[in-house]
Amino acid sequence: MPSPPEGCLFCSIVREGSYVRKGKGFVAIKDINPKAEVHLLVLPERHVDTFRDVGEFPAREAKRMLEFVADTAREAGLTDYRVEVNVGPSAGQTVFHLHWHVLGGGPAQREPAGDAETAVVEL
Ligand code: 5GP
Ligand code: ZN
Repeated sequence: MPSPPEGCLFCSIVREGSYVRKGKGFVAIKDINPKAEVHLLVLPERHVDTFRDVGEFPAREAKRMLEFVADTAREAGLTDYRVEVNVGPSAGQTVFHLHWHVLGGGPAQREPAGDAETAVVEL
């Protein structure tokens, strides 16, 4: 496994242990700048740059990662939520350590995109 780049923010967070939930090989942290009532980030403890490199995970570990995302949302009290991964700078990735955004409980949950037209009619 290649060593993590010097100064990776999320590697530091993992090292410091400042997470809200931990599983085998994965942690969940609170996003410092939440975009919903609940905004968590799930990241692998080991450094992987982006989702493009998902093939680096053995199948069992990849499955565990997805289950950890779902379990994190459930334990945060969410039934409906969004899971998002930004891949590359022009898609909005700013931290180059793979992470899954788990967003719920905010306006996006209360007003799904499909209801926008209905809401206008009701006004
Ligand atoms: P990206 O833009 O790469 O998809 O997501 C990076 C996320 O990391 C952003 O939502 C940003 O708010 C969050 N973030 C940036 N710096 C920190 C930090 O120091 N601590 C935590 N907990 N989150 C951070
Ligand atoms: Zn890292």
